[in-house]
Amino acid sequence: MCLICDRIDMIKRGENPYFVKELETGYVVIGDHQHFYGYTLFLYKHHGDKTELFHLAPQERAKFMEEMVLAAEAAAKAFGAEKMNYELLGMGDAHLHWHLFPRRTGDIGNHFNNGRGPVWSIPMEEMYSDDNRPSAEELEAMKQKLRTELERISYE
Ligand SMILES: [Zn+2]
Repeated sequence: MCLICDRIDMIKRGENPYFVKELETGYVVIGDHQHFYGYTLFLYKHHGDKTELFHLAPQERAKFMEEMVLAAEAAAKAFGAEKMNYELLGMGDAHLHWHLFPRRTGDIGNHFNNGRGPVWSIPMEEMYSDDNRPSAEELEAMKQKLRTELERISYE
């Protein structure tokens, strides 16, 4: 079973506490771990055999990209990023999903090129530490901030 499909099923049942907003091509959710405060994901709605951006029809792909950018801009504004990092990986779960990281100076300590590296240069234990899980109250506040920005920004 795919973890992303699982999380989407939870959203559809109204049982995913990280869910923020449904867009046309995907779902905006807050990340489980918040070492990088404001870490947000954008999950493509469908899985099946569409596991690469080049599998999507041009119009669908353009919309998916635009909505990812919208989620990133909203996260940057809601959580105060110096710079956004965007990643679409998929070796764990092939399901198309964007990792959107608000970055700030010093957020990876001295790891990798004196702190000027990618998010994944901090040890996994540090990134996925239970200390980085938001409390229920923190999570609610984050969802509200992100939803407000998502509704404020328009690319029409
Ligand atoms: Zn999936």
